[in-house]
Amino acid sequence: MSELSFPFAAAPRPDGELRDVAPGIKWLRMPLPLALDHINLYLLQDDDGWLIVDTGISDATTRALWQQIFAGPLAGQRITGVLCTHYHYDHAGLAGWLTDTLRVPLYMSHGEYYTLRTLAQAPEPESESQSQSEGLPWQHLEYFQRCGFPAAALDDIHQVLRMASQLVSPPPAAFRRLRHGEALKIGGRPWQLHLGEGHVAEHMLLHNAQDGILLAGDQLLPRITSNVSVLPTEPEADLMGDWLASLGRLAQLPNDPLVLPAHELPYRGLQTRIRQLRAHHGRHFDRLRQLCQARELTAYEATLQLFAQRGQLSPVDRMMALGECLAHLNYLRRRGEIERRLDADGCYRYVPAFNPTDAAGSLSG
Ligand SMILES: [Zn+2]
Repeated sequence: MSELSFPFAAAPRPDGELRDVAPGIKWLRMPLPLALDHINLYLLQDDDGWLIVDTGISDATTRALWQQIFAGPLAGQRITGVLCTHYHYDHAGLAGWLTDTLRVPLYMSHGEYYTLRTLAQAPEPESESQSQSEGLPWQHLEYFQRCGFPAAALDDIHQVLRMASQLVSPPPAAFRRLRHGEALKIGGRPWQLHLGEGHVAEHMLLHNAQDGILLAGDQLLPRITSNVSVLPTEPEADLMGDWLASLGRLAQLPNDPLVLPAHELPYRGLQTRIRQLRAHHGRHFDRLRQLCQARELTAYEATLQLFAQRGQLSPVDRMMALGECLAHLNYLRRRGEIERRLDADGCYRYVPAFNPTDAAGSLSG
């Protein structure tokens, strides 16, 4: 299997430095206060200025860096709009602030725009005397119970979710819709819009066939695997099915485009990366099949086994890992490979699916 190649040895510093990555495309980084400590943003040359692709989080540092860029390298140049690949706070946290400050339109898919608007509304506990987790909707509490997730970790999670909503400035009151299959002309360069599913519902990727450039957001990162997580808001979702179908569509893109991802470094080797990602999820499926064969278990127990090599996980990492594990379990269940049973303790336990063909075979054999 051929390796990925990285045409740029180093990234721009997350201090407002701009780097040219292709004619009419500039690359910059903003810091993130997380284990993943940066996001890549891009500027696309437009007819009379620059279009911003993704924004960084809403905090004082990122806002100051944007001000510095507008006063420095982009001084005297117009910003024509802001395009967000998806709603996550590192991508769209400053969508509202930028579009309101600059009075420019926001470009986003329908699903992501409205998800951004709901994310900005943090769940509040109903009273001070309540514990944090009691403020969670019953559907979310039920999700964690069905998975066998320890109730003691719920307070931490609730707190982090509220903090995450503070990394988003109030979303813009209007947007311009991006749709799969449509074309978008930016500064004379035609971009084809592609839908990515699984990481979020309506992630947008931009592809220019002529120059061989793919703005990939979080859909095709070179080293880390994007989080594909079944969340309490849609516990039955088949996100891994959506994710793998998206990879199948993206594998059809011609030639070998330069992939501009939202994290890590730009790279070539799209086909290789898609093969690696499929193999990665294939290994997770195999492990989960084995685990269910060995003994019936909850989604949380399966998570601890699946991610055992990562050592002790923080409550939030455990929640992300649980969502990821559930995405794989839902996939196998939808395809009839495993089943789940609701036990008296309120937990689902996963077992191999009863297969009538096997049973018939063993009777006759
Ligand atoms: Zn994301």
